[in-house]
Amino acid sequence: MTPGAGDHSDDLPASERLRQDAHAERRAPICRWCGVTALPGAAVGLAVDFACDNPDCPAVGERVR
Ligand SMILES: [Zn+2]
Repeated sequence: MTPGAGDHSDDLPASERLRQDAHAERRAPICRWCGVTALPGAAVGLAVDFACDNPDCPAVGERVR
């Protein structure tokens, strides 16, 4: 730990961060209409990779990529 590096958000070991990065390899896109992270299409019953699931979004249920 570097003196003065008081960043508590950086307390994960590097190996753990790498593993999380691997899990996030297939990163969910952000809906360009509402800015909400899209859900996998399977999670919302759609045959798409990712879809917006924000009920307030004009593009809800549409494919996001
Ligand atoms: Zn949206």
